[in-house]
Amino acid sequence: MATAGRLVSRLAVVTGGGSGIGRAVCQRLASEGASVVVADINEASANETLESLPGDLRGQAHMAAAANVASKESVKSLLTSIQARYFQPPSVCVNAAGITLDNFLLDMEEDDFDKVVQVNLKGSFLVIQAVANALVACGATKGSIITLGSIVGKVGNIGQVNYAASKSGVQGLTMTAAKELSRFGIRCNCVLPGFISTPMTDAVPEKVISKMKALIPLRRMGEATEVADVCAFLASDDSRYVTGASLEVTGGLFMG
Ligand code: NAP
Repeated sequence: MATAGRLVSRLAVVTGGGSGIGRAVCQRLASEGASVVVADINEASANETLESLPGDLRGQAHMAAAANVASKESVKSLLTSIQARYFQPPSVCVNAAGITLDNFLLDMEEDDFDKVVQVNLKGSFLVIQAVANALVACGATKGSIITLGSIVGKVGNIGQVNYAASKSGVQGLTMTAAKELSRFGIRCNCVLPGFISTPMTDAVPEKVISKMKALIPLRRMGEATEVADVCAFLASDDSRYVTGASLEVTGGLFMG
C-alpha cells in the first residue's frame, strides 16, 4: 500500500514521544507528512526525537514539549501551547506515555499501584479528554485518537498486577470514548503490543525474554517501528471505518 503523504496537513500529538514506541510513531507520522508534537515528561528526549524527524526543512513543522500526562494542569498547558503555535488542536493523538513498576501482587506497594494507574490510565483519560474537548470546541469534523494498551491487559502477566489493570482500563476507556465521540467524527482505537524491543523491555532479564520468544508464533520480539506502522494506519483515512477496535501487534502471542 502506498502511504507516503497519507497524513499531509494533519497535526499529531504523541505522548511518550521521547522514547521507544512513541518515538517511532513520531518518526512514522512525520514521514507520512504530518506535523508532529513530541510530548514527553523528559524534555531532553523529546528534543532528541524532534531532531530526528524528517520533513521539516525550515524547522517549523514539528515541536517538542515537556508534558506530564498524569497532571491535568500539564496536559492543559500542552494543549494551550499547541494551539498557540498551530492555531488548531491536533486531529491525531497517540497516547504512548507509559510506565511499569513491577512486583508480585502479594508484595505490591499501594503507591506503586497508584503511580502506574495515574500515568497509564488516568494520563490517557486526561489527554483524550483535553484533545477531544478542543476538537469539539473548534467544530472539527474528524479526528483519530489512538491509545497504547497491552496484550497483558487482556491476559494478565505475573508481576504486573498494576500494569495489567491499567492497560485493561485503557481498553475500556478507548471503547467508551469511541462510542461517545463518534458523533463528532472522532475515531478511537487501542493498539495492544506484545513484547516489543524498547527501553521499557530492556530491563526484562534475558532468561524471561527467551522464554517469551519461544511462546511467540513469529519467534521474535517486535520492533517499535512495527507498532508505529499500525498507529499510522489508524491515524489515516485508510482506517476510516475502524473505531472502538483493539488491534493486537504481538507476533501472534496469546492469540484467540
Ligand atoms: P518507553 O521506551 O519507556 O517510553 C515511554 C515514554 O513515556 C518515555 O519517554 C517516558 O519517559 C515517557 N513517560 C513516562 N511517564 C510519563 C508521563 N507521566 N508523562 C509523559 N511521558 C511519560 O516505553 P515503550 O516500550 O515505548 O512503551 C510505549 C507504550 O507502549 C507504553 O504505554 C507501554 O505501556 C506500551 N507497551 C509497550 C510494550 C513493550 O513491549 N515495549 C508492550 C505493550 C505496551 P521516561 O523514560 O523519562 O520515564
